[in-house]
Amino acid sequence: RGPGRRQRADPPVALVVASRRDKPLSSCSCPELAAGQRVGAGGRGAAARLPQEESEAQGRGRRAHPSLGDPAIVKSPSDPKHYRYLMLQNGLCALLISDANNMDSVPSEESSEWEDNDETEIETDEDDDSGAEMDEDKENYEDDDNDGDDEEDPNNSDDMEMEELTEKEEAKKRSGTEKLSAAALCVAVGSFCDPEDLPGLAHFLEHMVFMGSLKYPDENGFDAFLKKHGGSDNASTDCERTVFHFDIQQKYFKEALDRWAQFFIHPLMIRDAIDREVEAVDSEYQLARPSDANRRELLLGSLARPGHPMKKFFWGNAETLKHEPKKSNTDIYTRLRDFWQHYYSAHYMNVVVQSKETLDTLEKWVKEIFSQIPNNGLPKPNFGHLTQPFDTPEFYKLYRVVPIRNVHSLSIAWGLPPQERHYRVKPLHYISWLVGHEGKGSVLSFLRKKFWALALYGGNGETGFEQNSTYSIFSISVTLTDEGYEHFYEVAHVVFQYLKMLQKRGPDKSLCENIHIFCKEDFLTGDQLLLEYKPEIIADVLNQLCPLRANLVLLSAASERKCHLTERWFGTQYSVEDIDKSWSDLWASDFQLNQDLHLPEENKYIATDFSLKASDWPDTEHPVKILSTHHGCVWYKKDNKFKIPKAYIRFHLISPLIQQSAKSVVLFETFVNILSHNLAEPAYEADVAQLEYKLVSGEHGLVIRVKGFNHKLPLLFQLIIDQLSDFSFTPAVFEMITEQLKKTYFNILIKPEILAKDVRSLILEHGKWSMVDRYRRLMKGLYTESLSSFVKGFKSHLYVEGLVQGNFTSRESKDFLNYVVLKLQFLPLPHPCPVQFRVVDLPNTHLLCKVKTLNRGDANSEVTVYYQVSALIHIKECEDSYLGEEVDRNWNEIMTQQYLFDRLAHEVEALRSVTKSDLVDWFQAHRGKERKALSIHVVGFGKQEGDSDVQQSLLGEIYQLTFLPPSSYMKNTSYIRDIRNFTLMLNLLPYHKILK
Ligand SMILES: [Zn+2]
Repeated sequence: RGPGRRQRADPPVALVVASRRDKPLSSCSCPELAAGQRVGAGGRGAAARLPQEESEAQGRGRRAHPSLGDPAIVKSPSDPKHYRYLMLQNGLCALLISDANNMDSVPSEESSEWEDNDETEIETDEDDDSGAEMDEDKENYEDDDNDGDDEEDPNNSDDMEMEELTEKEEAKKRSGTEKLSAAALCVAVGSFCDPEDLPGLAHFLEHMVFMGSLKYPDENGFDAFLKKHGGSDNASTDCERTVFHFDIQQKYFKEALDRWAQFFIHPLMIRDAIDREVEAVDSEYQLARPSDANRRELLLGSLARPGHPMKKFFWGNAETLKHEPKKSNTDIYTRLRDFWQHYYSAHYMNVVVQSKETLDTLEKWVKEIFSQIPNNGLPKPNFGHLTQPFDTPEFYKLYRVVPIRNVHSLSIAWGLPPQERHYRVKPLHYISWLVGHEGKGSVLSFLRKKFWALALYGGNGETGFEQNSTYSIFSISVTLTDEGYEHFYEVAHVVFQYLKMLQKRGPDKSLCENIHIFCKEDFLTGDQLLLEYKPEIIADVLNQLCPLRANLVLLSAASERKCHLTERWFGTQYSVEDIDKSWSDLWASDFQLNQDLHLPEENKYIATDFSLKASDWPDTEHPVKILSTHHGCVWYKKDNKFKIPKAYIRFHLISPLIQQSAKSVVLFETFVNILSHNLAEPAYEADVAQLEYKLVSGEHGLVIRVKGFNHKLPLLFQLIIDQLSDFSFTPAVFEMITEQLKKTYFNILIKPEILAKDVRSLILEHGKWSMVDRYRRLMKGLYTESLSSFVKGFKSHLYVEGLVQGNFTSRESKDFLNYVVLKLQFLPLPHPCPVQFRVVDLPNTHLLCKVKTLNRGDANSEVTVYYQVSALIHIKECEDSYLGEEVDRNWNEIMTQQYLFDRLAHEVEALRSVTKSDLVDWFQAHRGKERKALSIHVVGFGKQEGDSDVQQSLLGEIYQLTFLPPSSYMKNTSYIRDIRNFTLMLNLLPYHKILK
């Protein structure tokens, strides 16, 4: 498999939802390109106009102001980049972005602050916006394989942040402090064009074009070139689009462009590489299989009309691309070449390049290089006539599906006419914002009061599967409690009542504007600028969302016995039935509205004061302790670098009670989850106003994080503390949350990469309770009384440590701690509570711990090798590019109580004194005989492992790890079969803190 390359579009990455955060979460793999199309050309709908625009631009504006770019391209006033759009003679369209002053102007820093920040949230910190730790259930809507990190592990968030931070720093290190140059190319052809006899061919070709070109024949030459110069690349295949992109250090950009373009000019696609690369595609298929989101998608696809491309199996695997073609004597090599010649044509390719060069230089390069891409003159493949793929009796039914994860959920979906052309109005965005609202009067608020639902998402993910030239999907997915599962028809009815209310009311302009009022800072994305209000378009879509035109998918393992059908490619077990007659009769009638449902109220959290506060404290480079008492302390740093009306507040409420036993860890997590649940409704308005909050059950304390425009931020912080102070719960809430926590633990443990990490930490970290321990303890049962007394104990003795950074004065910052002390009335801790675990000292040998994965349907294995060394120096020399990054670094020092805020400088200094031979000696010393290594193997299920092919759900089983002996390759390695016994014999290393 190529180095981390060429994922399929992972279509389901997130169906989104605009409603929850108004940030597009789609899997759209090429944001630059998408934005470019909108900014430059007014979107695909306007494609026909392009040639005139181009000649106009050439004729006037550009020649007059060669460096300023095309004035017709609307951009943010604070965006210093220059844009130019042109069409080459072969029909290829290019958007050029000159980012000449990306490092030296203040507005630019500010803009990257917003961009980077939001990106981070989307990609790595999925649950950051809701505050609820149990958000993992929105996986219904997301590809859980996306990055495989522990975002869902309630206990690991801060751990993970550290890792992310390190990764980010390392990525930056590769490129120095300079922004990389980048390019993306989109071919308007995708899996819809797969031949009937070769499912997955478009995806396979996307892999194969990269196997060397006539000009640069080396099979892995391009990747090697990028790697050497700090770059990376990837590609993805969607239904009607295939996107390729890469980035690299600026000085190698032109050469990289030329090497890359050759794949579209004259790729080799050598025969020899075919078999190897099929394996890469097959392994992507294996990774995609154990995902409920992918499964639901393929199941829905199978309901499309016969002959419609939505029915196709886009992923491809060894069966479709190797074994079947062999049987039928199909020459896959010829077919790949045919497909390339037929469909990779310049006249429906778009390219976007961004670099520091001037627009004129970029134009020269692009013309020189990309004009060589052939244009075959054939008409662009078009599927626009195949509308309404889902207007079939099969679609309007109830499907019960056995999920991979332990979850109950109901998804309601409608197949609508294609909505892409209404991108300026975004009717689905409008509707999903209302349906997904969580404040008073919302569907979720009502369902929560009934204890039926934990979460609700709605919208369209803008992936090819969800939106293409033949249709658009609109779906609403509700994560149900056990109780809600019993009442799923009623749940559907509440959703329908809400929609009916919207239909009756019609679109509301003031509301529409309110939705977007807070988005003005998001103009850089380009999406929000294009808003137009056209009530008739919104009303038209709304009116199509009627109960009898909906598809219902009910995920629950409880349906297992009824599910006798199996989806062909992913093996999903399901059943199909008509909607219950009493309900379909009701829904066909003019049913009553629900008085508890109404539109959202006015939002008190929307900031109106964006002024920067005058400093009342000397400027400092690092946070300083401005308040310290027996109860806690506050670290403070006035932002004097980024100068934005924003702030970050983080507090750590430390308690020694948490790690006392597996039970206390579970109680603590239950407590934090209930607290998040209690907060969800009152704090939702803040979320809408782009104030973010998050409660994390840390290993040694409760972490409260809020950020956003500083104006109304104290209101949100106080709300959280008030909820903590007045904490209460009903037995029904307790029941619902603990049931959900069981599912959360389960769903975490079935991921091999998380299990590997859990086993590793079980061996290494003394005194830490593993996920397996916690799951087993929770399954034994808990009482409400235990939770009450735990919470009382937790709130009675604490040490509270806080960090305030951004647009607050020192006086205001102290008030945050004062508020906590005043409201909670707690006593100081008698002894300081350690905030890190002690690590065992591994013996000088290579140890192996090998366990079976816990998900029988998962063929994927995971190997981790851990080396224990005496000291480790990270390589870190980089500039923070946004405030959040600086805050993360400082917060990590506080969370681990090391307070070495200038750690980077120390490390850089230390590194400067390290010579190459020091490094080599050090490396040799740690991999020689004296090495301390620990391998963790998590073994997937498969025939090679002697497992039978039967897939069955594991729900209800209590986990025991199954320890396996080493394979014959490692037969001389000592291995661990009893972790507790093994670690008992080892010494503990002292607390690992680097304070100087
Ligand atoms: Zn792929």
